Amino acid sequence: MSHQIALESSDVTFACDPGQSVLDAALKAGIELPYSCRKGVCGNCVGGVAQGEVTGMGGAATTSEACGPGQVLYCLCTPTSDVVLRPASWRRVDPAARKTFKAKVHSHELAAPDVSVLRLRLPTGQRAKFQAGQYLQILQDDGSARSYSMANPPQENDGVTLHIRHVPGGLFTQRVTQLVTGDLLTIELPFGHVELAPDDLRPIVFVAGGTGFAPVKSLLDDMLKRRVQREITLIWGARTPEGLYLPAAVERWQKQWPGFRYIAALSDAPAGPGGFAGRADDALRSLGADLNGHIVYCCGSPAMVTAVRAAALAQGVPPGDFHADVFVPGPQTATPVQAPL
Ligand SMILES: Cc1cc2nc3c(=O)[nH]c(=O)nc-3n(C[C@H](O)[C@H](O)[C@H](O)COP(=O)(O)OP(=O)(O)OC[C@H]3O[C@@H](n4cnc5c(N)ncnc54)[C@H](O)[C@@H]3O)c2cc1C
Repeated sequence: MSHQIALESSDVTFACDPGQSVLDAALKAGIELPYSCRKGVCGNCVGGVAQGEVTGMGGAATTSEACGPGQVLYCLCTPTSDVVLRPASWRRVDPAARKTFKAKVHSHELAAPDVSVLRLRLPTGQRAKFQAGQYLQILQDDGSARSYSMANPPQENDGVTLHIRHVPGGLFTQRVTQLVTGDLLTIELPFGHVELAPDDLRPIVFVAGGTGFAPVKSLLDDMLKRRVQREITLIWGARTPEGLYLPAAVERWQKQWPGFRYIAALSDAPAGPGGFAGRADDALRSLGADLNGHIVYCCGSPAMVTAVRAAALAQGVPPGDFHADVFVPGPQTATPVQAPL
C-alpha cells in the first residue's frame, strides 16, 4: 500500500508507492530534494525523518557515514507508515524542464588515450537548460541509461560537451570509442541537484578525480562567465600526467584569475612543478590543517570521494559545506517521471 509523505513546515504532501524510494516519490511529485547518484554513495540526499518509519529498499541500509543522528539516505529508503520528512532543502521543479533530445555527435576527440571529449549538438533551435554541475542520461536501446556530467557551462546551450573515460569491458563506453560525427544519441537532461549557491563567495576548493573534472569545468567556466571573484583552488588527481587531459582549460583559468591555485596530484608519476606526488585526498591535506570557512566540492569515483570527504571533514570543513558528485559505476535505474505541478 502507498503511504503519504509530508515535508515538515510546509503544505507539501505526496504519495509514495510500494517499493518506491522517498527520493523518487518526491521527484515524481515535482519536488526536488538534494540528490546526485541515487545509489546511496554520494550522501547528497541525506535528510531527517521527523515522524513515521522508513526501511531500506531490498534490504539496503538506510544510513551511511554521511548521515547524522536521525538522518537517512532518501534514495535508499521507502516508508512503512505515513512520514514527515525534514530535508536539508527542497524546491518545486518545473515538470517541463527535463527534456529528451536526439543529439548529433558534432565532434569526438581523444583528449587522453582513454578519455573521449564528445561534443553533441541539439536539433536546430533547441536549447539545453541546465545548471553548472548537473548531469544528463544517455538512453540505451535496452532501456538502461548511463549518466554523464555536462562539461560545458550552461550559457553554451546549443549542445553539450561530455568527458567520457573508456572503462575496460564497459558496455556503453566501448560504443563511445566508435562514435563519429553525425551519429545520433538519445539524451535526457537535466539531472542532479546543485548545492553550490551561485552567490556564495567563500573560498572554494574543487577536487576532481580523472573525468570528475567534467562538472568542475562546467562550474568554473560558469563562474568565469559570471565574472565571479573568489579564492579558488583546484586539485586534479590522476595516475599519470596524461590523465590531466585538458591543460588548456586550467591555463585559461590561471590567466583569468591571478589568485587561482592549481595542484596536479599524480599518484603513479613524479609531480611536475607546483604539483603533488600522491592522491588527491593527500593533496587536500597538504593545504594545511584548518579549512573551516572553505567550501569543498569533490567529484570522482566512490573511493576517491570517500577519501576526500574524510580528509575535508578532518580539516574542519562542516559536513554541510562538503558537496560531492560520485561517478557510481553501472547502469542507472529508470528515471522517475514528474507529475504536473
Ligand atoms: C551522476 C553520474 C555522473 C557521471 N558522469 C560521468 C562523466 O562525466 N564521465 C565519465 O567518464 N563517467 C561518468 N559517470 C559514470 C558513467 O555513468 C558510467 O557508469 C561509465 O561510463 C561506465 O559505463 P559503461 O556502460 O561503459 O560500463 P558498464 O557496462 O556499466 O560497466 C562495466 C563494468 O565496469 C565497471 N565500471 C563501470 N564504470 C567504472 C569506473 N568508472 N571505474 C571502474 N569500474 C567501472 C562496472 O562495475 C562493471 O563491472 C557518471 C556516473 C554517475 C552516476
